[in-house]
Amino acid sequence: MFGIYIHIPFCRTACHYCDFHFSTNTQTMGEMEAALVKELELRIQAEQPDFSALQSIYFGGGTPSLFELSGLRGLLTRLLPDAPNCREVTLEANPEDVTEERLHAWLEMGINRLSIGLQSFDQKQLDWMNRQHSAEDATQAVQLAADAGFQHISADLIYGLPSRTVPFREEINRFVALPVDHLSAYILTVEDRTVLGNRVERGIQPIPEDGDVSAEYQILCQAMSAEGFEHYEVSNWAKPGGRAVHNQHYWSGLPYWGIGPGAHGFDGASRYANVANNPKYIKALTAATSALGLPREIETLSPTDRYNESLMTGLRTAKGIELIDFAKQFGLRPDVAEPEVWGRFLNQGLIAEIGAGRYRIPESRWVMADAIAAELFVA
Ligand code: SF4
Repeated sequence: MFGIYIHIPFCRTACHYCDFHFSTNTQTMGEMEAALVKELELRIQAEQPDFSALQSIYFGGGTPSLFELSGLRGLLTRLLPDAPNCREVTLEANPEDVTEERLHAWLEMGINRLSIGLQSFDQKQLDWMNRQHSAEDATQAVQLAADAGFQHISADLIYGLPSRTVPFREEINRFVALPVDHLSAYILTVEDRTVLGNRVERGIQPIPEDGDVSAEYQILCQAMSAEGFEHYEVSNWAKPGGRAVHNQHYWSGLPYWGIGPGAHGFDGASRYANVANNPKYIKALTAATSALGLPREIETLSPTDRYNESLMTGLRTAKGIELIDFAKQFGLRPDVAEPEVWGRFLNQGLIAEIGAGRYRIPESRWVMADAIAAELFVA
């Protein structure tokens, strides 16, 4: 196992677009702390992992920066002493939680990378999303983190948002002026069972046209390249040395553990998903006496599932896919499995060779990456 993802399922309020698993009822935080440690212990007892292979730990959510310091410390104290090769410990943080006291505590317990949810520098958009911070709060949070000693700071932005009052290029300028070495930028997606989804369904919330969203993506690609960031995955940019170790494990198909309600994990052959419900998770962990009692659903992936997933994740990266790897791993290559589609994509410049037998989607077409990969899927 190369990485561990730990899901902290609490938020102060609900952002209108978000369908991640979280609860705004923080009264069970203490019980959650105990349940997370217990899940970790039961997994260790059952699997006796070799922690020397562990390279990254990622606290995602939810809002991990809201979690009790004792909870984060308890988990890291159990993991880090046995993991001498763990290079990256990331905590997702919202600007309103970033204080000097917390920053020093996070650093002291071994967290060495922050992923801060800025989302936008346009106050109208922040209000529209129901974010709890202003653009100034976000700027200040990043600066405080850098001043405290964080050398790796990533920020999240969302593009394709309605209600724009600040030109996108200006937002990017404000972002690159910050002491950050990584950007994750995602298109606004309309999810069911969210305030946004409900408004769109009722026809009272217009959202930007695809062409406008693509135009923002192209602006972002050009601006980030001009600012010295490497575009290494469809939605991710890094300065030299700033690539996210943990996310690269996902894209390379390496095994990782998922701990916490709603967390997913992958053991190399199967995926599992923990129950996405805080009371059910706590109840199950309180009762569990072995890993057999963990509240999760396991899905064994067929070779076809794994082939399609590798194609999707590989074509979303700048290093692309190597045909010989597919032949070795699956006994099948995309150019042989779908020769007509492959040939058409090559002719249309949707896929390009970047080395002997290695192919990628050119950056100018990355906005269509998922659709391109899906056409190459096998049944
Ligand atoms: S976007 Fe983040 S802070 Fe907002 S509700 Fe979702 S998990 Fe919580």
